[in-house]
Amino acid sequence: MGKLSIRDLDLRGKRVFIRVDFNVPLSNGGKEITSDKRIRATIPTIQYALDCGAGLILASHLGRPKGKPNAEMSLVPIAKRLGELLARPVKMASDCVGPKVESMKPAPGEVLVLENLRFHSEEEQNADGFSRQLASLCDVYVNDAFGSAHRAHASTAGMVKYLPQAAAGLLMEQELKYLTLATTNPPHPCLAILGGAKVSDKIEVIANLMKIVDRLLIGGAMAYTFLKAQGQSIGRSLVEDDKLDLARKLIAESGEKLVLPVDHVVAPEIQAGAEFKIVDVVPDGMMGLDIGPRTVASYAGMIAASRMIVWNGPMGVFEKPPFDRGTVAIAKAVAESGAISVVGGGDSEKAVKSAGVSDRISHISTGGGASLEFLSGIELPGVTALTEARTTE
Ligand code: AMP
Repeated sequence: MGKLSIRDLDLRGKRVFIRVDFNVPLSNGGKEITSDKRIRATIPTIQYALDCGAGLILASHLGRPKGKPNAEMSLVPIAKRLGELLARPVKMASDCVGPKVESMKPAPGEVLVLENLRFHSEEEQNADGFSRQLASLCDVYVNDAFGSAHRAHASTAGMVKYLPQAAAGLLMEQELKYLTLATTNPPHPCLAILGGAKVSDKIEVIANLMKIVDRLLIGGAMAYTFLKAQGQSIGRSLVEDDKLDLARKLIAESGEKLVLPVDHVVAPEIQAGAEFKIVDVVPDGMMGLDIGPRTVASYAGMIAASRMIVWNGPMGVFEKPPFDRGTVAIAKAVAESGAISVVGGGDSEKAVKSAGVSDRISHISTGGGASLEFLSGIELPGVTALTEARTTE
């Protein structure tokens, strides 16, 4: 993957700072964790470092406290949950820098969780003094927080220059492996499937992937901006009128690569259980809310013939049945294709789960924004900051 991995390091007796993504959803005024998925996702890296004989300092942001301590965004419940998952004591620091934290530096085998990095505005400002303070806590830096890698903050980029080595954690390594494969040298035929609400969110992704993939299948509301740009009637479907020129340009540049839906599931309103029709062209007064069965069949055929698939964004209003059928069918087709499959974005992940095929997807990205930036060809500051791996011939 080109970057140093935690597996390349000698961690015995070292104090290792791991930037993790503990930005979990909380309820009850920050006291209860709604989903511990992100905590679980870091366990392999944490356990690996402990097994190697390291003492661990774990740091994360949580929510948007805007540079001030906020009891509702404390990492205390997360440290508690982590202790349960690791079945070992986990210490919690009341801050992330300063003399108190320094006095708690962990010995080998110990785990210390720092308090929310964003309780200090210097974290997001990537302030030098703060970066230096964080770096002074450890010998080695590891970043396992792919979801924050598109931000140049003190804990993701700034502190690295004060440390001899910066390596990817196991989760970060996995993200980089699949996303690099998809964007540099994918096996062909390589297919991208893009959906969701807006073209404007994915312009750079479309432009970059167009250079790499053999076909780019479009679904979701963004299809209606492209269809309208081609002169097709779209009724009352969601559309970005200010992006029509851009859509025309992308269609012209893409040649045969860009594929649009040929039929639609339409209804008069976005409502679960609404009476729907299947049509080739969206009639006046109706909204296109899902790709139709002919589109599903045609997309599924192209998916089955692919060797690599990148998917981001639902094919319709998948939260409201029956408009979830297209997305679920695409999830199943991707899983059954046997291709290397990379799924990104919270909605596509939910779709893959509700189709019951998560375990047949090669990689489900943990970073929505970060994975979209990576697919756009943008260098992520948190990745750039990692030490290059030495290649041995
Ligand atoms: P995004 O965050 O851009 O990936 O968009 C996801 C959202 O797009 C979901 O909440 C979907 O309900 C919505 N969406 C997908 N297709 C349509 C459509 N045809 N009309 C309206 N909303 C849609």
